[in-house]
Amino acid sequence: MKIGFIGLGIMGSAMATNLVKAGYDLTVWNRSGNACRPLAEIGATVAATPRAAAETCDIVISMMADPAAVKAVRDGVDGIISGMSAGKGFIDMSTVDAETSLNSARMTQEKGARYLEAPVAGSRKPAEDAALIIMTAGDRHLYDEALPILGKMGKKILYLGDTGSAARMKLANNLVMAGMLTALCEGLALTAKSGLDVAQLLEVVDSGAMSNPMFRLKGPLITADGEIPAAFPLKHMQKDLRLALRLAEEVGQPLFAAATVNELFKSALAADLGNSDFAAVSRIVHRD
Ligand code: NAP
Repeated sequence: MKIGFIGLGIMGSAMATNLVKAGYDLTVWNRSGNACRPLAEIGATVAATPRAAAETCDIVISMMADPAAVKAVRDGVDGIISGMSAGKGFIDMSTVDAETSLNSARMTQEKGARYLEAPVAGSRKPAEDAALIIMTAGDRHLYDEALPILGKMGKKILYLGDTGSAARMKLANNLVMAGMLTALCEGLALTAKSGLDVAQLLEVVDSGAMSNPMFRLKGPLITADGEIPAAFPLKHMQKDLRLALRLAEEVGQPLFAAATVNELFKSALAADLGNSDFAAVSRIVHRD
């Protein structure tokens, strides 16, 4: 089976590397060509366009920044859809809104091919360790066929039903994550302003029911001075909040806290923190 992989950013490069290491015949494409080099060095073929990857592969996976990036590699004469034909599969693992995913499904099906959405939870390290949580929805036969491939990238794989279900689930997941991270930042800022030891707050939180891997990972980065290099870029978390709020509006669900958290992340973007880790939102919360 030949697999195409489009989008070699933080997540895509780690996921594609795991597929090559697992022995798959991989063809890659990325907008900036230098991201392809490490994959080529371990045996991947580099395609000239997303279309060429789709034409030569059985299944094409994409891992793009946002809905606009998905459209950029999906549509047009050099896009993935142009290279699709009956029997092939298109799996989009990007975090996008359900509308983008439903359009991808429709366009793929018009070519007689099959579509699966498969956004992931887990960041740079879980991507490297093939320990992602993969939420899928769409074509059940493609899911069954792709399960061994997804198993080389993730530790838990869920099938959630019709196209759009996984996209929506992923947005709900990230809304929780943004809120938790913001609460941690505010708790740490309050601790510092009260003249208390921030390391002790981390210890207190970690000793009880609120203990979790994200606080253990991000807490020390937040309390240390300096830049926080991106595992999950802040600009992508703001995108997820924006899409979650749009979904909430569509279904009529008020999101009191998430709306405020989104304003905080917008302020962080305005402060040029978009390419830092999303934990850098702490720099907006905590100001001396
Ligand atoms: P990233 O490092 O910013 O990579 C984004 C990818 O999209 C790159 O390959 C980039 O190409 C490409 N891209 C952006 N705009 C494009 C355009 N207009 N045309 C063509 N290609 C374009 O992002 P990431 O962290 O890997 O995240 C990828 C997706 O996974 C996002 O949807 C994110 O929300 C989601 N996600 C991320 C994490 C995480 O912790 N990082 C965790 C779970 C889910 P260039 O290299 O040329 O810029």
